[in-house]
Amino acid sequence: MKKKKIAILGSTGSIGTQALQVIEKHSDLYEAYVLTANRQADLLIEQARRFQPAQVVIADETRYAEVRDALADLPIQVYAGQDALCQVACNGELDIVLTALVGFAGLRPTVTAIRAHKQIALANKETLVVAGELVTQLAYDNHAPILPVDSEHSAIFQSLMGDERNEIEKIILTASGGPFRKFTLEELKTVTPAMALRHPNWDMGAKITIDSATMMNKGFEVIEAKWLFGVEADRIQVVVHPQSIIHSAVQFSDGAVKAQLGVPDMRVPIQLAFSYPERLASDFDRLDWYHMQPLTFEEPDLEKFRCLALAFEALHQGGTMPCVVNAANEVVNLAFRQERCSFLEMAEVIERTMQRATFIRKPSLDDYFESDAEARRIASEFIK
Ligand code: NDP
Repeated sequence: MKKKKIAILGSTGSIGTQALQVIEKHSDLYEAYVLTANRQADLLIEQARRFQPAQVVIADETRYAEVRDALADLPIQVYAGQDALCQVACNGELDIVLTALVGFAGLRPTVTAIRAHKQIALANKETLVVAGELVTQLAYDNHAPILPVDSEHSAIFQSLMGDERNEIEKIILTASGGPFRKFTLEELKTVTPAMALRHPNWDMGAKITIDSATMMNKGFEVIEAKWLFGVEADRIQVVVHPQSIIHSAVQFSDGAVKAQLGVPDMRVPIQLAFSYPERLASDFDRLDWYHMQPLTFEEPDLEKFRCLALAFEALHQGGTMPCVVNAANEVVNLAFRQERCSFLEMAEVIERTMQRATFIRKPSLDDYFESDAEARRIASEFIK
C-alpha cells in the first residue's frame, strides 16, 4: 500500500514531536514528507536527518543558513520564512497536513492547504477561533476534510461516529480546570508563570499551558466546537472534570450521552486523525478501571476564570471579535510568561481590547489580518 505523505507544520513542538512518534511506529503507513519549525534549528535538523523528509522550513529566516548547511549532504529542500510555510503546505504529493504550529501563524498555511484540497489534521485551534466560518466554508467548498486533533474535539468526533445524521442536543466539553481550579480570586493575584506552567494532567507547549490556566483554552475550544460540529454556543456546556479521563461527550435528542474516555495522551487523537476511519493498534497506556480516581464534575467559575466568559461573549458577537480576542490573548499570554503582566490583568487587557478594536461583522480573509494586527497594537499599549 502507498504510504500517506504527511506535512507536520510545527514538528518541533509538543504535538509535532508526538506526531513523529506516531509516524515512526507506523512507518509502513506514513511518511513525514514536510517538517517545519519556527526557531529550533537544532531539533529540526535532528528530525530531518532521522525522518528524511522531502522538504523542511525554518520560519525564522536568520536560522536558514544553519539548517541548509547541516542538511547539505541530504536530498532535502530547505526553505525559510512564513511564505515558505504556505508553499510547502500545498505540495502536490501531500495527503495530510497536520497544523501543529501555535497561534495566528497557523491561519495562512491552513487556508493554503485547504485550497489545495488537502486533508487537514487540525491541532492549531486558533485558525478556527479567528476565522471559523470562513475556514469551514472553504473546507466544504474544496472537499478538504478537517479532522480534529484537539483531544476534546476528537472525543466529540468519536462520539458522533455512527450518529452523524442524528441531532446533537448538547455537547459536553470537559475541562481539567487547570492548576488554579481551587484558588481564590485573592490567590490568583499573585500566581507566577512557573506555577501556571505546571499543568496537572497534560504536558503541552507553553502558550496552550497558560491558556489552560486562564481557561481561555476552553473558551477557544467552545468556538472550535461550534465551527467543527455546527452547534451554537448555547448548546455547548463546559464541565470541569479534573481527572481528564472523559475527553468530552455528546448528548442526543433522546437523552442518551456518548463519550470517549482514555488515559490523557495526545498520540491517540493524532493517530486517529491520520488513520480515520480505521483505528490502528497502539501500546499507549490503558485505563486501569479498578484503581482509577473517582470521576468528578463541577461547574466552571466564570468570575475567577473571566477569559472563558470573554470567549463566549466573542462568539456571541461573531464577526472579527473572536479574532480580536485571540490576538489580545497572544499578546497577554506572552507578556505573562515574560512577567510583564499579572495573571488577572490578562483578562482585563483582553476585555479592554475588545471594547476598543474595530468590529467587522462579515470579514474577508484580509480583514482578519488587519483585525489581528490592530488588536495586537491595542493590547500591547494597555500592557505598557
Ligand atoms: P508548541 O509551542 O509546543 O509548538 C509549536 C510549534 O509551532 C513549534 O514547532 C514551533 O517552532 C512552531 N511555531 C511557533 N510559532 C511559529 C510561527 N510564528 N511560525 C511558524 N512556526 C511556528 O505548541 P503545541 O504543540 O503545544 O501546540 C500546537 C497547537 O496545537 C496549538 O495551536 C495548540 O493550541 C494545539 N494543541 C496542543 C495540544 C498539546 O497537547 N500540546 C493539545 C491540543 C491542541 P519552534 O519549536 O521552532 O519554536
